[in-house]
Amino acid sequence: MGYKKASFIEGLAEKIGLIPNLHKDGYQEEDKDMRFFSDEEIAQMYENFPPPDKWDNWVEYDPKAWPKKVKKEYQIIPTTCFNCESACGLTAFIEKDTQKVVKFEGNPHHPGSRGRNCAKGPATINQVTDPDRILFPLKRVGKRGEGEWEKVSWDEVLDTIGARIRKAIKEDRHNEVAYHVGRPGHEGFMNWVLQSWGIDGHNSHTNICSSGARFGYNLWYGYDRPSPDHSEAKFILLISAHLESGHYFNPHAQRIIEGKMKGAKLATMDPRLSNTASMSDYWLPTYPGTEAAVLLAMAKVILDEGLYNRDYMENWVNWEEFLNAQHPDKPKSFETFIEVLKEEYKDYTTEYAETE
Ligand code: SF4
Repeated sequence: MGYKKASFIEGLAEKIGLIPNLHKDGYQEEDKDMRFFSDEEIAQMYENFPPPDKWDNWVEYDPKAWPKKVKKEYQIIPTTCFNCESACGLTAFIEKDTQKVVKFEGNPHHPGSRGRNCAKGPATINQVTDPDRILFPLKRVGKRGEGEWEKVSWDEVLDTIGARIRKAIKEDRHNEVAYHVGRPGHEGFMNWVLQSWGIDGHNSHTNICSSGARFGYNLWYGYDRPSPDHSEAKFILLISAHLESGHYFNPHAQRIIEGKMKGAKLATMDPRLSNTASMSDYWLPTYPGTEAAVLLAMAKVILDEGLYNRDYMENWVNWEEFLNAQHPDKPKSFETFIEVLKEEYKDYTTEYAETE
């Protein structure tokens, strides 16, 4: 993949410095992709973004005053987007006159998103200015469903709910307490609090939206939000449409594409010819619900043909504990572990996957 010859407009824009010069000598010779840009060059691509040493006092022309050149002073505060769990970096532009946030832009210095956000990032401004946003706690008055609410203070809410939780715990009614959070972006902290109170009542939308994957990750990996080193991978298997619509899609998508540009093969299992599938080297249009059969068959091939990373498996997988628990009578060797796995997977043939 390489950069095409610059168009007249591109050439002009590069010459006067409006865009980085992607066509200058050197880039084309080096296999022409992002991996050959140095950190300095990438930083240069963000040269139009205010440098951090100017964030306390950033001046821009007011676009609404055009064609007059009216200067506006901003303070720029780094923050994060929370419109999905990627938590990409944003910068909030705060108007100095009014102390109001007037816009959000990507933060090129954020290590995850690196200044590249999806459209929902800058749209965070809607959450700040939406006239229908909820500004204070509301307490139901009248019967449930009547739609009658009154404004109450945060102190009242905290005192009321705190007292009720305390009463329930003291009366040993722990199971009557449930906590629901829309998006658990606090890395489990609230669940630890609940567990320390003896309450098994944490709930979130995640319990439905991605619980299958998260459960599996937790079982074999101990953590449900993995972030593989996509940009260094040689083969990337996506189950569903991560690149354009899945969780963590923006920071992961950037790195999956980097990996692909370095030569990684991309395979996507998705019943739909999604945008991701259409950009992949392999598309596996499995019937919904049959993905597990394909994965089991893949595991069998990997075992039978010795395609696993022995060094990793031997040193990082708890095969000894597994043998002790499941096969205490067998020799405790890695070879035994592989033989046991081969036996367990023997029925998951490619023919089996095909019939599923
Ligand atoms: S991917 Fe988009 S919605 Fe998700 S955190 Fe990043 S900017 Fe926000």
